[in-house]
Amino acid sequence: MASAPASVLTDGPSPLRPVVSPRLSRAGEVLELVRTGRASTITELATAMNVARSTVTERVEALTDRGLLSSRGEIVSGRGRPATVLAFNPAAGVVLSAQIGMSGLRVGAYDLAGAPLAAEESTDIPVTAGPDRVLAALVTALDAQLVAAGRARADVLGLGIGVPGRIELETAREGGSAAARPWIDFPVAERLGEIYDVPVSVGRGMGLLAMAEQRAFHPDASVLLGLKVGTVVECGVVIDGKIVDGGSGLAGEIGHTPVPGADAVCVCGNTGCLNAVAGGGAIAERLRLLGHEVDSARGVAQLAQQGVVEAGRQVREAGRHIGAVLAGTVNLLNPDVIVVWGYLADSGDQLFAGLQESLYRMGVPAATRHVTIEYTRLGADAGVRGAAVSTTEDVLSAAHIDLLLTRWQAEHP
Ligand SMILES: [Zn+2]
Repeated sequence: MASAPASVLTDGPSPLRPVVSPRLSRAGEVLELVRTGRASTITELATAMNVARSTVTERVEALTDRGLLSSRGEIVSGRGRPATVLAFNPAAGVVLSAQIGMSGLRVGAYDLAGAPLAAEESTDIPVTAGPDRVLAALVTALDAQLVAAGRARADVLGLGIGVPGRIELETAREGGSAAARPWIDFPVAERLGEIYDVPVSVGRGMGLLAMAEQRAFHPDASVLLGLKVGTVVECGVVIDGKIVDGGSGLAGEIGHTPVPGADAVCVCGNTGCLNAVAGGGAIAERLRLLGHEVDSARGVAQLAQQGVVEAGRQVREAGRHIGAVLAGTVNLLNPDVIVVWGYLADSGDQLFAGLQESLYRMGVPAATRHVTIEYTRLGADAGVRGAAVSTTEDVLSAAHIDLLLTRWQAEHP
C-alpha cells in the first residue's frame, strides 16, 4: 500500500467509461487553457488548439453544462460581434482529502482551486487499530466535512489519502507484533472508491506534505525536501514539481542511516540508526533515564519549550545528528529549500541550531549556502493540503476531464 505512487487514479466500482466520446475529446484541454489563463474566448481557444470554432463551442457547452466553465461577461475587440469571456468555476466540485498518521487522522474538503470549504478536522485513532476501524473513522470524518461545507457525496470529484510510509508503520508495535501487517496490501483506494464512487489516490504522507509546501510557497523550487522530525526522522522529496517515491516507495527514509559510533538498537534490526539516536522516541527514552516524565516526541518538545535545559540540549544534539545525515542528501540533490516539520521542530531554535551546525560543516559549501531551511508554514494541514493538491491536479488533468464529461453526459442525456 505505502509503496503506491503518489498520484495514481484508481477507478471505483463504476469506473469512468474508458472510451471518450469523440464529441468531447480535448474538452479537458479547453478547460486547462481557460483555467491557466492562456485563453478565455472561443476564438482564442480555437487558435490555441488549431481547431474550428464549432469544435471549441461544442466542448465549451459540455463544460458549461457540467458547471466547470461559466461566462464572465463579454468583450468587444475590433470589428465583429462581442466575444463571451469564459471563466473556470472552482465550485463545480469538491475534492476530499485525508492524512492518516500514526496516532490520528486529519481531513479536509476543498473546492477545485484548492480553497478549504470547511476547517480541517482531526480525529484521534492510532493506525494500530487496523484498516477497517481507521477507514470507518475516516468516512465519518469525511462526511462531517461535507456537511460542514454544505455539500453532498454527489459533489465529490476525487479523494486523496496520505498514508504513513511502510517503515514508519513497521515501527508501530502492538502487543509485540508489527502493526503494519494488516495495512500492507490493504485495498484502501478500492474500499473508499466503492463508498464515494470517485477516483481515489493514495500516496505516502511525507511526499504529499513536501508537495503542499512546494505548491503553496515555493513554486519555483526545483528541488524541495520536506524533513519530518517527530517520533522518527524522514524526508519527502519533490523534484521539478513531482513527488519522488523511489524504486520501491522508500525514497527519503533517512532515519535508518547509521550514525557513526552509535550503537542504539533500532526497530529495523540494525544498530545506530538515526531514528534510534535522534528520533523523538529515542530522546524521550534518554530523558526518562534522567528522571523526566516524558514518553513521546510531543512531550520532548514541551519540555524544551518550558526551558528544561537537558531537553533543549538533547534536541540540539539530535539536530546535529540529523544535519550530518542531511548533508549527504544536500550534496546529492542540491535542494533549494528544506521545509522542517514535526514535534521536534516545534521545540524552539535548538533543533535548527544543531541542524545548521552540522549541515554547514559537512555539506558542499556552495550547496549549503544556496539552501533555505525553514519551518513549515502549513503546519498540521500540510499533509491534507498535499493530498488535496495532488488529487485536484489529477482530477483536472485534460484526459480525466474528457472521461468525466463523457460519463456525465451518459448519466444526464
Ligand atoms: Zn533502523
